[in-house]
Amino acid sequence: MMGRTHLAFGAVAGVHLAGTTPALGLPIMAAALLGSILPDLDTPYSKLGRRFWPVSKLVFAVFGHRGGTHSLLFAALAMAPVWMVSPPVAVALGAGIATHLAADAISFGQGPRFKIRGAGVPLFWPLRDGKAGVRLVKVNGPLENLVILPWTMLYAAQSGWNLI
Ligand SMILES: [Zn+2]
Repeated sequence: MMGRTHLAFGAVAGVHLAGTTPALGLPIMAAALLGSILPDLDTPYSKLGRRFWPVSKLVFAVFGHRGGTHSLLFAALAMAPVWMVSPPVAVALGAGIATHLAADAISFGQGPRFKIRGAGVPLFWPLRDGKAGVRLVKVNGPLENLVILPWTMLYAAQSGWNLI
């Protein structure tokens, strides 16, 4: 899905986790939002990839879009160093990544950005390269932009409001 939709899902995860550990609310929210777009560091077209293009171009060349960075192993590797500092923040980062993988697992894209890998995510990479997912939502299509994104944003906002 698009970066904005991933961020909306990350916000939902962040708001709920921040509610369980209010003292770490801000870093938890930031980690969940970062996690929600972190796997797309594998494409220079993404929000994060445009910013860190030397990294994203390299990762794209090696793994392709929706490759290794869309796996459970990547989530564990990303969480490990954060866990040493703060387990609740690491959980938030992992939750953000989990929302990204789940959203990509039900969405499919077209065009050059998806030439190498199509629908779904390689959850068990590098053990298995096969992709888990269903072709349910077209990336940047009307279902994503007119239904999923606004409802997820509303839900995140309402959940956040309930915390106050
Ligand atoms: Zn992705």
